[in-house]
Amino acid sequence: MTQSLQGIGMTSLRTRERMINRLMEQGISNHKILDVMRNTPRHIFMDEALASRAYEDTALPIGYSQTISQPYIVAKMTELLLTASNNRLTKVLEIGTGCGYQTAILAQLVDHVYSVERIAPLQKKAKNRLWDLKLKNVSFQHSDGGWGWLDHAPYDGILVAAAPPEIPENLLLQMAVGAVMIIPIGNGDKQRLQQVTRTEDGYEVKKLEPVIFVPFLSGRK
Ligand code: SAH
Repeated sequence: MTQSLQGIGMTSLRTRERMINRLMEQGISNHKILDVMRNTPRHIFMDEALASRAYEDTALPIGYSQTISQPYIVAKMTELLLTASNNRLTKVLEIGTGCGYQTAILAQLVDHVYSVERIAPLQKKAKNRLWDLKLKNVSFQHSDGGWGWLDHAPYDGILVAAAPPEIPENLLLQMAVGAVMIIPIGNGDKQRLQQVTRTEDGYEVKKLEPVIFVPFLSGRK
C-alpha cells in the first residue's frame, strides 16, 4: 500500500466516526445503518484526488457529470426504506448505481440488490469496488432505469438516486403489494423526496423533504 493510501486509511477511521456522529445529530437513528456506514470505506468509491474529502457531508463529482450522494441522503433514504418495511427487505431495485456506495450500504442490509445504471463506465467501476469489498449479493444491469428490471420483479423495495419529473410507471408496476419506493421527484432545485407504498388497491404517496439530485435521464451510454 502506498504511503498516501495508508494516510487516507488512517484518517478515514477517525473521519468516518465523525461522519457517524454527524448523521446521528441529523436524526439518523437506525443502528444497523450507522454500523454499516461506519464499517464501509467511502473513500474507495471516488477518485484518489477527492478521496480525502470522502467523509464530508456533501455530494462530490464521480465523473460523467454525476455525483456521489452525500452521506446524510444515503443514510436517510436507506432508513426510510428499512423503516417502512420493518427491516425485512428481500429484493431491492436500485436505479442509478453511480459509484456504488449506496449499493454497498444496501447490500449489507437486505438479501439482494438489483442495481441499474445507464452509464457503462460508472457501472464497471462500481462492480469492481463491490467485488473488492466481497459484496456478492448484487446484480448489475446496464440499462435505462425507466424500464425498471422486469426479470426480477416484483421488488419489495425500490430506491431511485436520480430525479425524474414524475414517478416512472414501470417502477410502480414492478412493486409488490406492501412494497415501498423512495424517489426524488421534480426539476432542478425544486425536488422533493417521495415515499410511495403499494397497497392492495393502489398507491399511497407521501411527500417528504426537499432534496437535490442529478436528473433522471433516458437511454443508455
Ligand atoms: N447513489 C449513487 C448516485 C449517483 S448519481 C452514488 O452515490 O454514487 C445518480 C446516478 O443515476 C448517475 O450515475 C446516473 O448516471 C444515474 N441515472 C440517471 N438516470 C438514470 C436512468 N434513467 N437509469 C439508470 N441510471 C440513471
